[in-house]
Amino acid sequence: MIPYGRQSIDEDDIKAVTEVLKSDFITTGPKVDEFERGICRYTGAKHAVAVNSGTSALDIAIQALQLPPGSEIITTPLTFAADANAALYNGCKPVFADISWDTRNIDPADIRRKITKKTRAINFVDYAGHPCEIGEIREIAEEYGLYTIEDACHALGAEYRGKKVGSLADMTILSFHPVKHITTGEGGAVLTENEDLYNRLKLLRTHGIDRSNATQFGPKAGWAYDMIMLGRNYRITDFQCVLGLSQLRKLDEFVNRRNAIAKQYNDLFAGVDGIEAPKTKPYVKHAWHIYTVLLDGVDRTAFYDRMRAYGIGTNVHYIPIYKFTYYRKHFRFLDTDYPITEDVFSRIITLPLYPTMDDAQAHTVVDTAKKVVQELKKR
Ligand SMILES: *Cc1c(COP(=O)(O)O)cnc(C)c1O
Repeated sequence: MIPYGRQSIDEDDIKAVTEVLKSDFITTGPKVDEFERGICRYTGAKHAVAVNSGTSALDIAIQALQLPPGSEIITTPLTFAADANAALYNGCKPVFADISWDTRNIDPADIRRKITKKTRAINFVDYAGHPCEIGEIREIAEEYGLYTIEDACHALGAEYRGKKVGSLADMTILSFHPVKHITTGEGGAVLTENEDLYNRLKLLRTHGIDRSNATQFGPKAGWAYDMIMLGRNYRITDFQCVLGLSQLRKLDEFVNRRNAIAKQYNDLFAGVDGIEAPKTKPYVKHAWHIYTVLLDGVDRTAFYDRMRAYGIGTNVHYIPIYKFTYYRKHFRFLDTDYPITEDVFSRIITLPLYPTMDDAQAHTVVDTAKKVVQELKKR
C-alpha cells in the first residue's frame, strides 16, 4: 500500500529523543527555546512560540488579537475545520470567501466582497503549500485595518516573491503533525514580528501565568506568580522539540524531494484526459504538502475506491467547512455562495506525496491513476 502521506523518521531523530528522555527536563526545558530559535532561523521570523498542535496555535493567535465578541474573521472554506473552529473558540464568527480556480487559495476579490463593519482579521491558508496572493491580501488588510493570520501548516519552506513564508503576515501558523513537512508527533507554532503579540502568545500558552508580575504578593515572594490573562495549557514537551530540531535539519531535503515528486507528477499527467494537474504561479516556491488533481468526467468516489483496491491511498482535501453538520446547525452559509469551492470539492482528489517516496512509486501512482480513469470512463 502506498499511503497518501507519512512521516520520515530516521535513527538520528530516535537518538535525539532518547537523549532528552534521559535528561533532567522532559518538558518546558531548553529544547523548546532551541526549537523556536531554529524555526526563526529557517523562516526568517523574529519570534516563534511552539505549542502542542497547529490547532492550539490558531486558537492562541486569535485570542492574542483580543477582538471584541462577534468580530468577523474571513477565511477559506477549503481547509481543515480548525481554521473556522479557532474563530468560534474566541467568540468570533468565521466568514468564508470563495477560492481561486487555479491555486485553490482564497480569492482576494471575494475577500473584499465579504468585508463588513465587523471584519477584524483575514486568516488565509496556503493551500497544498502554494502561498496565497499575499501582496494583495496585505493591501486589503491595510486599507481596512485588518489583522492577517497566515495558516502555513502546508507551507513550511515555501516562498512568495523570493521571501520565505513565516514573516509575511501579522502571525504565521505552523503544524508538526506527522503528515506535515516536519513532525513532533503533535505540535505547532505561531510566528510573529510583533513584540506585544509575542508576549501575549507566550502567556496564553501556559495559563496566562506571568512570573515577572509576582511582586504584588510581597517584595521577596520567591514562591509567587501571577495570572494576568485567561490562558490554557498548550505546552509542547522537550522530547517533541528535540525531534522537531532534528527534523528541521532535514527540512530542505524534504521540501526538495516533495518538489521533485510533484514535478514528476506534473510531467507525467500533462495532456492526460480526465486528470487536471495543479498549477503553480511563477513567482512562488511551492512547498508541496499535498498533490491534488481534479477529475474530469469520472466519479470521484469510484476513483477513490479503485485506487484503494490497487493499493494506493488517496484522500480528499477538503470537505468545505460550511457543509459540516455543526456549521449547518449554527450558521446559514449557502453552498451557492461558493461556486468555485463547490466545483473543486466535487472533483478533487489527493494523490500520495511524501519525501521517502521513490521515483518508481511515483510512476506506479500515475500509471494506476491513468488506468483507473480509463476503466471508469468505459463504464
Ligand atoms: C494540519 C492543519 C491544521 C491543524 O494542525 P494540527 O496540528 O493537526 O492541530 C490547521 N490548518 C491546516 C490547513 C492544516 O493542514
